[in-house]
Amino acid sequence: MKNIKFFALMFLFCGAAWSQQVKNKAEIDAKVSELLSKMTLEEKVGQMTQITVTNFEDTKKPGYFDAVKLKQGIQDYHIGSILNVPNPGAPTTKRWQETMTAIANEANKTRLKIPVLYGIDAIHGASYTAGATFFPQQIGLAATFNTELVKRGAEISAYETRASSIPWIFSPDLDFPRNPAWSRMWESFGEDAYLSSKMAVALVDGFEGNNVGSKYSVASCMKHYIGYGSATTGKDRTPSIIPERILRQYDLTIYQAAIKAGAKSVMVSSGEINGTPVHASKHLITDILKKELGFSGVVVTDWKDIIYLNTRHKVAETKRDAVRIAVMAGIDMSMVPEEFSFYTDLVDLLKKGEVPMSRIDDAVTRILRMKYELNLFQTTVADLKDYPKFGSQEHIQEAYNTAAESITLLKNNNAVLPLNKTEKILVTGATANSMKYLNGGWSYTWQGENSDTYAADKFTILEAFQNKLGKENVLYTAGADLEKEDDAEIQKAVELAKSASKIVLCLGEKNYTETPGDISDLYMSASQIKLALALAKVNKPIILVLNEGRPRLISNFEDKMNAVVQCYLPGNEGARALVDILYGDVNPSGRLPYNYPRYPNSLEKYNRKYTESISEGEQNNDAKYEKSYLPQFEFGTGLSYTTFSYSNLKIDKTEINKTDEINVSVDISNTGKVQGKESVLLYLSDNFASITPEVKALKRFEKIDLKPNETKTVKFTLNQKDLQFVNEDLKWISEKGTFTIQIGDQKKDFLLK
Ligand code: BGC
Repeated sequence: MKNIKFFALMFLFCGAAWSQQVKNKAEIDAKVSELLSKMTLEEKVGQMTQITVTNFEDTKKPGYFDAVKLKQGIQDYHIGSILNVPNPGAPTTKRWQETMTAIANEANKTRLKIPVLYGIDAIHGASYTAGATFFPQQIGLAATFNTELVKRGAEISAYETRASSIPWIFSPDLDFPRNPAWSRMWESFGEDAYLSSKMAVALVDGFEGNNVGSKYSVASCMKHYIGYGSATTGKDRTPSIIPERILRQYDLTIYQAAIKAGAKSVMVSSGEINGTPVHASKHLITDILKKELGFSGVVVTDWKDIIYLNTRHKVAETKRDAVRIAVMAGIDMSMVPEEFSFYTDLVDLLKKGEVPMSRIDDAVTRILRMKYELNLFQTTVADLKDYPKFGSQEHIQEAYNTAAESITLLKNNNAVLPLNKTEKILVTGATANSMKYLNGGWSYTWQGENSDTYAADKFTILEAFQNKLGKENVLYTAGADLEKEDDAEIQKAVELAKSASKIVLCLGEKNYTETPGDISDLYMSASQIKLALALAKVNKPIILVLNEGRPRLISNFEDKMNAVVQCYLPGNEGARALVDILYGDVNPSGRLPYNYPRYPNSLEKYNRKYTESISEGEQNNDAKYEKSYLPQFEFGTGLSYTTFSYSNLKIDKTEINKTDEINVSVDISNTGKVQGKESVLLYLSDNFASITPEVKALKRFEKIDLKPNETKTVKFTLNQKDLQFVNEDLKWISEKGTFTIQIGDQKKDFLLK
């Protein structure tokens, strides 16, 4: 009876919440059409124009507005949106409040008083605000395989971004990198579409909450729609070749999941697919995104990308024509942020009838709707009293927990880890003593070069060691520069290594994002390899700590390393988490969200096709073969200080028809001596299909926590969608035949009739 009452109440409550949402939507729609009906052509085009904040700065006083310039942007050009961070980077919440107040005051002087929508690259916390909590970059979030934790982090990022008076963030990144050299690999969730979708939903849910207009939520922006991460060359903003079948089977599913979760906006890719710049593609933006997927939010361009249709892609003969092409393809807001040419050209195109008003009304409706949903007509400036938890210990602890669950133990020969606090340790390597490398790009500034100043109160890897052991007990020298070879430093490291019992070697990459992060050689830099090889000769156990945004190849020295720990770009709390893991105070539980390649010419993904790695049994005896599929570390690799055993894999049906679901369960036991978290991954193989099937694909995962000797049963349900693939007619279909489920070392087959 109690249960019936409970469900009846729940039903009423959910029903009431739903009808409230419908009412709110209807109210907002009515307000939007009323406002739209009052707007002039110029005011409408202004709403579609987004300008960078630095454009309005006083040249003599960086970070502060030139009142005349701000008035011109907001009053004369009626701009609807401003983005980016004022010079010299990362204002305090107080400075943000002053900046937003100046903008709001100016907007209030306009005829219709439409608030300006401010957008920001807050991509691992409120990463353009001084004193904010910084989480690991997205690649690390994926490595946690813990969507609850990731969602909680997004809630905190939303809270701290709104505390900075900013309601709109350019995150999550839904890129699907196909070449690991790409400089934005770390901004993505790695190489698996299912993992990316789940993480995308966790971020959107966390950012937007139940009510995006609340003072603790922000609107998310999925980026970069679509195919951006797949440049054939691996260099940023270079062309990709992606058949639509593939685009639909992988890339599009991630957007679909985020749209379903309610993502309010999307940013278009700066790239081109099969020769069509995405900003010029009506097929991708209007037909697929808006019509087929029913996306009703705002489509914003990426930086200068309309102009680039003319100057880079050369599909438009003039800037004006570029505006026409992009608007007709379906973009709603132009991020051509350093000039007003979009505004002037679009006003002219409308007046001459080259762009219909209906297209503009669609765009402006979407923008105004988002402004109402975000409650900007009520307030655009935060009251700092509402945000007592900004940068608080509670938030820092969550960032620490996330970093701790992301760090991935890839190798641990002879249980060289955990370290013992009585051992003398040499800490060395180019990334050992700077916050820049822990945070990476989009941290306080675009390239993240000032993390050591802004995060001076946080700890580098070396400092975290010193805090744990006492300064006098840690040997340190840089050993190498990231780029320049330095034999004297190497010699110093080698000498110190002789008096240490173990070496912690920290290698990785500089801070970077976008085109400045392009590389032509995926190997770890020569200066760092030289240090690794020199230290290996000392014959002391080496723990290699990788601090990098993408998998820089280590195959020319990895066999000389006793342990390998990947910490990605773990953020401000990352070094503490890393050192706690190295000493066994925290048990590692991250898993690699991509295949770590061994060679530059073998970049297969874990879900490769059989034909990408023809099996050894098939090869002729009279020839010698190089194994084609031999990643350094495979997707999903992640060791623990305890051991887990899998048993009892059960499925409730061995034959199913085209409407059935299939229930799966498996037992996992902690067979070691310490408590540990384990991400349980379910892979599915379609054994035969009319389009060559993947060797296996991730379909479900769940992270559990087990004490020594504890056993838990994990249950999953697979549905028909899990059995499907996109066929040559671009339709999702499944085909009769056997499928294999694999969880840990357990396998079971079933038949689809
Ligand atoms: C990047 C985007 C970013 C935008 C605004 C572009 O250069 O590609 O990811 O959101 O700038 O800063």
